[in-house]
Formats: sequence, structure tokens, C-alpha cells
Amino acid sequence: MSLIAALQAVLGPKGLITDHDAMAPMLEDWRGRYRGDALCIARPATTEQVCEVVRLCAAQQVPVLAQGGNTGLVGGSVPAGQGPAPVIINLERMRTLHRIDTVNNSIEVDAGCVLAAVQEAAREAGRLYPVSLGAEGSCQVGGTIATNAGGISVLRYGNTRENVLGLEVVLADGSLWSELRGLRKDNTGYDLKHLFIGSEGTLGIITRAVLKLHPLPTASAVAWVGVQTVGQATELLVQARQAFGPTLSAFELMNQLQLDLVVEHVPDRRSPLSSAFPWHVLIEVSDMQGGAALDDALTALLEKACEQGLVDDAALAANDAQRQALWEIRHSVSEANKKAGVGLTTDCAVPASAITEFVERSTEAIAALAPTAQIVAVGHMGDGNIHFIPFFTHAAWQALPDQAAIAVGLRRAVNDIAFSLQGTFSAEHGVGQTSLGEMSQYKSSASLALMRAVKKALDPAGLFNPGRLLPPEHN
Ligand SMILES: Cc1cc2nc3c(=O)[nH]c(=O)nc-3n(C[C@H](O)[C@H](O)[C@H](O)COP(=O)(O)OP(=O)(O)OC[C@H]3O[C@@H](n4cnc5c(N)ncnc54)[C@H](O)[C@@H]3O)c2cc1C
Repeated sequence: MSLIAALQAVLGPKGLITDHDAMAPMLEDWRGRYRGDALCIARPATTEQVCEVVRLCAAQQVPVLAQGGNTGLVGGSVPAGQGPAPVIINLERMRTLHRIDTVNNSIEVDAGCVLAAVQEAAREAGRLYPVSLGAEGSCQVGGTIATNAGGISVLRYGNTRENVLGLEVVLADGSLWSELRGLRKDNTGYDLKHLFIGSEGTLGIITRAVLKLHPLPTASAVAWVGVQTVGQATELLVQARQAFGPTLSAFELMNQLQLDLVVEHVPDRRSPLSSAFPWHVLIEVSDMQGGAALDDALTALLEKACEQGLVDDAALAANDAQRQALWEIRHSVSEANKKAGVGLTTDCAVPASAITEFVERSTEAIAALAPTAQIVAVGHMGDGNIHFIPFFTHAAWQALPDQAAIAVGLRRAVNDIAFSLQGTFSAEHGVGQTSLGEMSQYKSSASLALMRAVKKALDPAGLFNPGRLLPPEHN
């Protein structure tokens, strides 16, 4: 029996797409920069079906590519242009919310659940699932775990990794590894779930997870702040941390050009301040009580910062609608940048104390290398994670002589500066296809050798997501 016929027998008519037009949206990444071919799209509805699909592919040595909401920003969720066409396993039919345990503060969900649906289910139970990012309406829990997604709440609640308690994973031979437990403590040797978190589909297919829930804050204060320099924003971060401790839940930074692109390219977005500032900060404080008291405390912080000359202007959201409007600006940046031109997104993190130097040196380096590039900067400043983006209008991009080489050179220049400041080239997006060269450049040979050993142990035939995460010589 052919592989397609065998898959059809396992998955039924709803579970397999072989028509090329129907497959098309799942063969191209969110930004439209990567595209490849697949044998078919398998859409399993159960873990058992995932096991069977993997078993069938392994028997015929056909590569397997796990796909969630296909919102990844590093080309990891679509086939590469070269190499044998894989079977894509798309998890979208596996979206059952199995169980909320409000005593243990945990929720058990299928990997295909959309992140926003999990947040909503938690909220209805008076709890918070804190992982939150611009793509939350379409990315899946499995994708966020496979990429160890960050987002806007890392400052307070940690990355996805810190919010996963248990996992179920289909291994490369089609067998199942399951530790679907909601334990906070379990010192029984290697914590295997952490191998799969952030592994970008190269070690196993995540089919179910137990996630950590938190008390749902019932009050929040949100302000938009204009400042002159990144140094002033850094000092404001220091003061906000001192003032609010763990109730400081977000501290986001963007430059004026980023704000302009959002206002220009995304409907219904307006600048919160009446004048332009070189840099803007979005601060959120949240707690279990004291809405007015939180507003007062944030106002007091900002008034003091104004007196010190740190802050030029600020707008405090007066109600839920205004708070949401401020967050919508932040959540619109990827959409705006995609529409506005070509942004060579980087994903660096450096220690908070080095953010100013990182931005200044990167700005100088890009100006020297590509005079027609503008700089878009946006990031989760509280985590030291700045997306420093050499940005070209479509016309300026078209005028460049060798776009691919220029893109590599500009990203390398920014990543070199982050590396020299003890930083990383990939804070939250992962490696995928985009950053394979960076893995060779910046990871130590000892780290790469250990990663390769793990890959060989879990996927000896190299069938899971080949050509991703590990550079070719390590695949
Ligand atoms: C508008 C926008 C804003 C974003 N903001 C952020 C942000 O703030 N922070 C951040 O970290 N990311 C952000 N991202 C990137 C992206 O949303 C995250 O990486 C997300 O976690 C990807 O989830 P997904 O379900 O779309 O995964 P996909 O894109 O489908 O896949 C991503 C990777 O995970 C693997 N994978 C997917 N599902 C599974 C599974 N079940 N088992 C094993 N492997 C799997 C894929 O093979 C691929 O390598 C943003 C993206 C967009 C479009």
C-alpha cells in the first residue's frame, strides 16, 4: 500500500489533505518568506492517530514536520525548499480542553488548542494562563511549547517553559512518552519534558500538555510613556521594579518609527500621546485588588520620573477599553511591519544593563552597512529582549544589489553586538531555518555536540523536522 493510501486508511477523509491548492496556506510561513512542498497534510484527531502516522512515515523513511498555527517567525513550521518533501502533521483538529484543576492551579489541554482559547478557559475559572503574544488568536499551545514562546508576560510569569508542568509526546518510532502530571516538584532524575520544550519539532510531536495556572489579577493599571532615550527607559524600568516588585507585569519598549508604522498600517490604531518621542514605553501593573490604588501608584511613579527628567509625557488608561487599546498597539507591530515593507527582524536579548549600548552600537553598525535602512525597534524590555529591525521600504529593498547577502550581513552585525554583550541572537522566536548560520557562529562546539547527541538518541534517522534548529553539519 502506498504511504498516502495507508495514511488515508488511518485518518479518514477529514484527516488528510493531498490537493495542492488546499495545502497551499500550510506550505508558506506567516511572513510569506519560506515555502516548500509536502507530500500531504495529515490532520489527526487523536494522539493514537499521531502515533500511527509517525509509525507509517518512519517505516518509509519519510520526514515528518509538526505544524501548529503556522505563526512562527523563523520558518520552522513549513517545508524547506530543498530535501525530500515531508508529511506535515497539523494539530488543528486536536483542540480539546480536557480538565481544569482549580485546586492544583493547572489545566490539561490538547496541543492543537489555540492559545487564546486556553487563556479564556482559565479566565472563566478565575485563573490566568499568562503566556500572551500577538499571535495568540491563532498560534497553538503545542507551537508555543515547541518554540518556548515568550511574549509580554515573561517579566512576571516566565517563558512558556516555566508554565508547563507535564507533557505527552509522540516519539520518532511512533511510540508515546507521557508524563501528563501537574506536579510542581518531581526530582526523579532528568526532567525530560524540558528536552521537548523549545525543540521546535525536532525531537517529538507534542500532543497534550498540563499547563500551570496562576491567580487571575482583578485590577490593573496601564500607562503609555514617552521618553527621549533608551537609558531613560532603563532607569524607569529599575524604578518600576523597585516600586512594584512582582506586580509589575509588563514593560515594553518601541521607537517612534514602530509606532508610526502601526498607526499608518493597522486600522483603528491611534498614537496615545499628542507628540512624537524617540522612544515609548508601555507599562502594566496588575494585582488581586486595588484598581484605583494601582492607578495612583503608577501615577506617582510617573510623576516622580517626570520630576527627575526621565519621562516627557505619559497617558494612564482610564478604563478597560483604554487599557485594551494601548495593548492593541503593541500586539499590532508584526502585522504593521509585514504590511509596511521589509523588516530584517532580529530577536536579541542582552542583560538589561546593556540594552542602551546594544541599541546605540547596532544603530551605528546598520547606518554604516546600509544607509537606506531605517531602524524599527520594539521589544520586551523587561526581559532585555529587543527586536532590533533594519527596515526597508519596498522601493529601498528593491534597489539593493544583493538582498540575501545584505540581510545576512545586517543580522550578523546586530547579533555580533548582542553576543559581545553576553547576549543571544534568539531570545524567543527560536532558530527554525532563519538562524541556522547563527547556531554555527555563536553556539559553542560543546553545546552543538550535546544537542546532536540528544537528537541522535531521540530521532536516530533524523526524520523529525530535518534542516531546522541544528546546522546541517549537526543534523
Ligand atoms: C503577530 C505575531 C506576534 C508574535 N509574537 C511573539 C512573541 O511576542 N513572542 C514569541 O515568542 N513569539 C511570537 N510570535 C511567534 C509565534 O507566534 C510563536 O513562535 C508561536 O509559539 C508559534 O506557535 P504556532 O502554533 O503558530 O507554531 P508553528 O508556527 O506552527 O510552529 C513553530 C515551530 O514549532 C513546531 N511545532 C508546532 N507545533 C508542534 C507540536 N505540537 N509538536 C512539536 N512541534 C511543534 C513546528 O514544527 C515549528 O518548528 C509571534 C508571531 C506573530 C505572527
